[in-house]
Amino acid sequence: MTDPLKQTLDRIVAATLSYRAGVAGAPQRAAMTYEEMRARFAAPLPEHGAPTEAVIAELIEQASPGIAAMTGPRFFAWVIGATHEAGMAADWLTSAWGQNAGNQAATPAAAAAEETAAAWLLDLLDLPRGSSVGFVTGATMANFTGLAAARGEVLARAGWDAEGEGLFGAPPVTVILGEEAHATVFAALKYLGLGDRRVTRVKTDRQGRMIVADVERALAAAPEGPIIVIAQAGHLNTGAFDDFAAIIPRAKERGAWVHVDGAFGLWARTVPALAEQAKGIDLADSWASDGHKWLQTPHDCGYVIVRDRRAHLRAMRMATSYLPFDESARNPVDYVPELSRRARGFATWAMVKALGRAGIAAMVERHCALARRFAERLSVAPDVAVLNEVVLNQLAVRFGSNLPDAEADRLAAPLIARIQQDGECFVGGATHQGLQIVRVSVIGFPTTEADIDRAAAAMLSAWEIVKQAGA
Ligand SMILES: *Cc1c(COP(=O)(O)O)cnc(C)c1O
Repeated sequence: MTDPLKQTLDRIVAATLSYRAGVAGAPQRAAMTYEEMRARFAAPLPEHGAPTEAVIAELIEQASPGIAAMTGPRFFAWVIGATHEAGMAADWLTSAWGQNAGNQAATPAAAAAEETAAAWLLDLLDLPRGSSVGFVTGATMANFTGLAAARGEVLARAGWDAEGEGLFGAPPVTVILGEEAHATVFAALKYLGLGDRRVTRVKTDRQGRMIVADVERALAAAPEGPIIVIAQAGHLNTGAFDDFAAIIPRAKERGAWVHVDGAFGLWARTVPALAEQAKGIDLADSWASDGHKWLQTPHDCGYVIVRDRRAHLRAMRMATSYLPFDESARNPVDYVPELSRRARGFATWAMVKALGRAGIAAMVERHCALARRFAERLSVAPDVAVLNEVVLNQLAVRFGSNLPDAEADRLAAPLIARIQQDGECFVGGATHQGLQIVRVSVIGFPTTEADIDRAAAAMLSAWEIVKQAGA
C-alpha cells in the first residue's frame, strides 16, 4: 500500500515542477477568464468527503487554466514578487508543521525564526536596530498597525488613552499625507476611525512626491495637538520617494508621528546607489513594507516596523490570561492584529538566507536597471512616452503621447487587453495624473534582459495594431 500522504505530495511535486518549468515559455496570462473559471468551479456542496489525493488531483486539474503567470518572467502588472522557490519551500513546511505562531512558548521555532528574521530586516533596510517588527499579511496591515501605534502615541502625548477610551471625545488628530498616497493607507485610516476623507491632502509633483512647501504649510496650519504625517517610499506609478530628509525633521518640530509606506520602495535601502533617494527615512517613527513584493516570499507576508516598541505593543497587545506577557520573550502575536496566525517568519528567514544581503541588493539593483532598459526600448517609438523619471523599478507609460489626451485615453484599455491577450507579457493599466497609462513593475526575480526586450517588442507591436484599428 502506498502511503496516501506520499501519493498526494508526489502529485503536488510533479504539478509544481511542471508549472514552474513551463511558466516562462507559456502565455503570461491565465488561459481562462474568471467567468470560465467560475463555471468550472461551480458545484453543489459535497455531502461526503473524498480521498485527499483525488481532491488535490481535481484541484490541479480545475485551477490550472485559471492560474495567472505571477511567477513568470514577463509579468509586470501591479507590484508582485514572483515567489522564489526558497520562500515557497519554507511556506510548504510552514503548512506541514501547522504552527499557530502567536506565542513563543507554544511555537519556539516559529517565534525564534521570526525574531532573527526581524533583526535581519532592520539590518537590511537600515532602520533603527531597537525597533519592533510585526509580521503581518502585507503592507495593508503593516500600514494599519503602524498607524494604530501612531494614533495611540500622539493621543497619549495629548493626555488621551485611545486604546482604553477609543476616539469618543478624543482630541482631534490631524493627519497629513500626499494626495497620491496608496489606497491602503486611506483604508487603514478608515479602519482606525481617523477617516479616509478627514485628512489634509498635500499636493504632489509630477513624480507623485509630496511638495515640501505644501507639507510645511499643512504643518503650520495644523491646530495644536496630535499630528500624524504619512510619507511614501516608492510611488506606485513612478517608484519615487518623498523627500524624507526635508519632511521628517519639519514634522518632528511639530511633534508629529511620521509613518512611511514603503511596501516595495523600502528595499531601495539595500542598494547603496539607491539608498540616497531614501535619505532620512530612518528618522521616521514607523514603516510598512512587504515580503511578497521585492523579497519574493509567497503571499501573505508584510512587515510593520515601529521605533517605539511600547507604542507598538500598546496598540496591538491583547490581554489574555493564557498569553502571559514577558518583556524578555517576544511573542509574535503582540505586534500584529491577528491572534491565530501563520508562521510567516520561516519564509522570510529562508529568503534572506537564500539570497543574502548581497543577493537581495543585486536583485533590486538589477530590476532597476531592467526598468531603465524597458523605458529605452519603449521610447524608440515616437508616440510612446515614459512619463516618469525612472528612479526605481516602476514605469508609467503613455501610448499615443502625440494624440489628443482623450484619444490616447480611449486606446489604453483596448491596448492593455491586446497585450494581455497576446500573452508575451502581462501589464495592467492605471490613471496617472489624470492620464490613462500602462503601468510596468519590474519586480520578479526571474526577469532577464531578454525578457525586457521581448516584452517591449510585444507591447509596441500590440500598440501598432490597436492604433491602426482605432484610427
Ligand atoms: C502593494 C502596496 C501596498 C499594499 O500592500 P499589500 O501587500 O498589497 O497589502 C501599499 N502601499 C504601496 C506603495 C504598495 O505598493
